[in-house]
Amino acid sequence: MSAEPLIKQEDILKRVKSLAEEVAKDYEFDTVVGLLTGAFIFVSDFCRAMPRKDLRVHFIKASSYGGSMQSSREVKVKGLDSVNLEGKKVLLLDDILDTGHTLSGLVKMLKEKGAQEVRTCAFLDKPERREVDFEVDYSGFKIPNAFVVGYGLDFDDDYRAYPDIWTLEEE
Ligand code: 5GP
Ligand code: MG
Repeated sequence: MSAEPLIKQEDILKRVKSLAEEVAKDYEFDTVVGLLTGAFIFVSDFCRAMPRKDLRVHFIKASSYGGSMQSSREVKVKGLDSVNLEGKKVLLLDDILDTGHTLSGLVKMLKEKGAQEVRTCAFLDKPERREVDFEVDYSGFKIPNAFVVGYGLDFDDDYRAYPDIWTLEEE
């Protein structure tokens, strides 16, 4: 891990609060869909910071497969079958936007499930890594091209419980 956190807990929580207020003012959504596992802490903090409380909250699990250089990697989803999105205005939340394959694939899937509108919010954004033409509607922090852990983000399921966000350096 880096010697100093990339983003400290105090700054994370301040930004989550301002982001929740920003989204609440801009978008009258009624449904939150969070992506497991990385976004579990962000979604929890975001929902508590969100001024509007008349929300439904769902979690689904997503992973993307295929060569990283392909323009459309397949996104595999678990848990979406039991979620009713018909006519819903959805806010899709993820921990980090990287290549863009996961969120761009999921927006299409949620619309196919009948969602009236789908907007996306990623707590972190690595713009240099994009492989598809996709941008989120809202993001917390833009960060440089480095692998980060903590605040729900893992390396091999470790580090999720650290409250700050750290850069992981290769050994
Ligand atoms: P993509 O945008 O490439 O489809 O994928 C985003 C997903 O890749 C995120 O939901 C996250 O699980 C994972 N990911 C991308 N960058 C990082 C990173 O720096 N650290 C961690 N822990 N996961 C990352
Ligand atoms: Mg993820």
